[in-house]
Amino acid sequence: MPPNQDDGREDRTDGRRWIDLHLHSTASDGAFAPAKLMQLARQRGLSAAALTDHDTVAGLPEAAEAAEQCGLEFVPGIELAAEHARGTLHILAYFIDPQSAGLSRMLESIVRERELRNRRIVERLGELGITVDYNEIAERSGSGSIGRPHIAGALIRAGAARDMHDAFARYLGDDQPACVERALPSAETIIATIRDAGGAASLAHPSQLGCESSLELETLLRRLIDAGLDALEVRHPDHTARQTESFESLTRRFDLAKTGGSDFHALGPRHFRGVGFGRVRVPYDWLKEIRARRHENRG
Ligand code: AMP
Ligand code: ZN
Ligand code: FE
Ligand code: FE
Repeated sequence: MPPNQDDGREDRTDGRRWIDLHLHSTASDGAFAPAKLMQLARQRGLSAAALTDHDTVAGLPEAAEAAEQCGLEFVPGIELAAEHARGTLHILAYFIDPQSAGLSRMLESIVRERELRNRRIVERLGELGITVDYNEIAERSGSGSIGRPHIAGALIRAGAARDMHDAFARYLGDDQPACVERALPSAETIIATIRDAGGAASLAHPSQLGCESSLELETLLRRLIDAGLDALEVRHPDHTARQTESFESLTRRFDLAKTGGSDFHALGPRHFRGVGFGRVRVPYDWLKEIRARRHENRG
């Protein structure tokens, strides 16, 4: 097996220190509890890991404690979706203070919008003749952020979809009959909120932005840098080698820090993006870069 493939062995460090700055837990739509995820990361030889759940900081205390116990350096994080004409604009935040009042207010409003959107999806499904119980979905999802993957789970349990992929392909995916948009904050608002919470902001998986030219990407980047963007996610499993190279050169041109990670959600053929997590490898030095971009915490 080539060295860059995940063969399930522990500790693939090659004597170097590696990190992962993009991980999801059960606090959003990942399969592993925050503590378990940190233990996995440590077992696989990582030196530092960030928990970056969608729209929630609920998993951070548990992850921080578990990381400390197993000797893993922990970075508190979050991943937030911003309004964007097409494609996906996600912003990763690192070193945020989870108690920040501004961040809490923004997350409350995101949760309200999610709740409205989720209930409308369930109504749509009802119109399509599929009954799922939203209260049960909410209960099963635990304390954090409830999203389409949780509704997909209910569709699978109801026998209306074979698996996650099928649920998105037939009902929940963008442009499918039960897809309902939710109102999202602007990238500018998200970046300002991250900075006020003492964090640093990185533009996640730029390959998913839907930019049709390098000029379009650069124009968007300039807009976000004006708003205070600190970094670009250079390494991500969706990026081709060419994209990775071109994103890295953009960080030099625009004086941005580099971040990277596996975007790990779960083990399995589609969602397994490898711990340490696989073919995306991020050197420890990148953590120093992003740490140096933290802002003053304004509470
Ligand atoms: P939400 O934030 O509730 O709109 O749900 C978005 C999440 O659904 C993403 O973060 C992915 O984890 C998951 N997702 C989106 N599209 C698909 C897909 N086609 N197949 C499986 N999961 C998906
Ligand atoms: Zn996700
Ligand atoms: Fe994302
Ligand atoms: Fe993610």
